[in-house]
Amino acid sequence: MPDYTSFGGDSLVIDMARKFSADRLAPHAAAREKAGRIEPEIIREMGELGFLGATTSAEWDGSEIDPVTYALLLEEVAAGDGSVSTLLSVHNSPTCIVLEKYGNPAQKDHWLRPLARGEGVGSFALTEPQAGSDASNLRTRAVKKGDRYIVNGAKQFITSASVPGSTVFFAVTDPAAGKRGLSAFVVDKSAPGYVIARREEKLGLKASETCALAFEDMEIHEDQRIGAEGEGYKIALSTLESGRIGIAAQAVGLARAALEHAIAYARDRQSMGQAIIDHQAVGFRLVDAKTRLEAARQLVLHAARLKSDGKPALEALGAAKTLQAALTGSSLVVGLVGEQVAPAANQIAGCGATRFLGVVGAAFAPSRYATDVAAAVKGAEVVMVVIPAFGQEAYMRELVKELRTAFPQAVISGTDEHGEGEHKIFRWLRSLDRKAHV
Ligand SMILES: Cc1cc2nc3c(=O)[nH]c(=O)nc-3n(C[C@H](O)[C@H](O)[C@H](O)COP(=O)(O)OP(=O)(O)OC[C@H]3O[C@@H](n4cnc5c(N)ncnc54)[C@H](O)[C@@H]3O)c2cc1C
Repeated sequence: MPDYTSFGGDSLVIDMARKFSADRLAPHAAAREKAGRIEPEIIREMGELGFLGATTSAEWDGSEIDPVTYALLLEEVAAGDGSVSTLLSVHNSPTCIVLEKYGNPAQKDHWLRPLARGEGVGSFALTEPQAGSDASNLRTRAVKKGDRYIVNGAKQFITSASVPGSTVFFAVTDPAAGKRGLSAFVVDKSAPGYVIARREEKLGLKASETCALAFEDMEIHEDQRIGAEGEGYKIALSTLESGRIGIAAQAVGLARAALEHAIAYARDRQSMGQAIIDHQAVGFRLVDAKTRLEAARQLVLHAARLKSDGKPALEALGAAKTLQAALTGSSLVVGLVGEQVAPAANQIAGCGATRFLGVVGAAFAPSRYATDVAAAVKGAEVVMVVIPAFGQEAYMRELVKELRTAFPQAVISGTDEHGEGEHKIFRWLRSLDRKAHV
């Protein structure tokens, strides 16, 4: 666990987040992942601790946490449960930030206060099926009728869209004006016409509800427009900066959890008469992963400090991305989880690697995982897969298929992590016609 004293930030808040994460999040992260939802008590407790008002000023009932503390708080929460940190991150920034920065006093009173107090969860609906990276390509239409707008359209990948609270969304108000024809709005998630079309089936972070949304003749009052007509694109882009700091801080927390698991395993696991951490090759990998993790943390904190000082942090995040590209071969800080630290953790954990899926599952596609394992244990004749007790059956089936392709001659073997009983995956495995062994 890192020593935060030299990082800056409010140690009281960070200690509180660490304790909450260790006591309330980590022990139930696997069960939460399996259930695919975050318990309302956890959301309520985060409200009481002030986490849901982290980026909101005290004037609007927020806890006014500075950007460095906020980044470290998200790292702590993500180390305990990546899904909970995702809810927290999207709620605070961009959602609450949009309302505080661009809402008028009446809107802040009505929409922001309850979110900052934790009485509801905020969502941010920008992405659409045809508009991801290119956020200007929206098709959702808000047509003005008197003092109302009638909204129709589809949004995709919206975090917490189904968790009670409110959603800031973006729609086209003037199709002829391109980027300048987009406007921002806010709506209660229980409004007629706000329809959850689908909950996405994800590989990981399953307790964070990611939804496809449909707006079906959803009628809203013009008072629910944030800023002037045509300001939507500017509003959306200007608030993504602190959102990116949050996402990067989460990635650091997830990577840290994976590495801590790997270190604990390497200290415990014996081979050739000693703990595997004492084999130099294993130690080198862990030190390398730790170095990359610390580099990523410092880049995130650098961006957070710039933001604290009121300087633009987007450039620093760009620099962070560039450095990450050099470090990891990926263009995102998040890549550190998927591209470097987690595979290192998995290599160290060897056959125990899959026990980390609950923590870093989102970072892996089964095909990618199989390629990493194949590179790590080239020529292996036996690949042993340890299935976590909570299991992720669909994922494991896919993974075993990929491992079979990567190791055509190998025996795929496995047990659950306690070595007790036969996991149902292996009954299924045995039923396959290809070589399988339990
Ligand atoms: C778990 C999860 C939660 C999410 N939560 C939210 C949310 O709460 N609200 C919301 O609005 N959205 C949310 N999103 C959506 C997210 O913001 C989009 O996935 C993101 O904007 C990328 O869009 P896309 O997936 O359509 O990828 P695309 O835009 O289709 O991109 C595909 C690939 O092409 C690359 N690419 C695209 N354009 C360029 C370019 N100009 N130069 C180089 N490479 C390029 C991308 O980097 C990517 O690798 C969420 C997504 C996920 C996975």
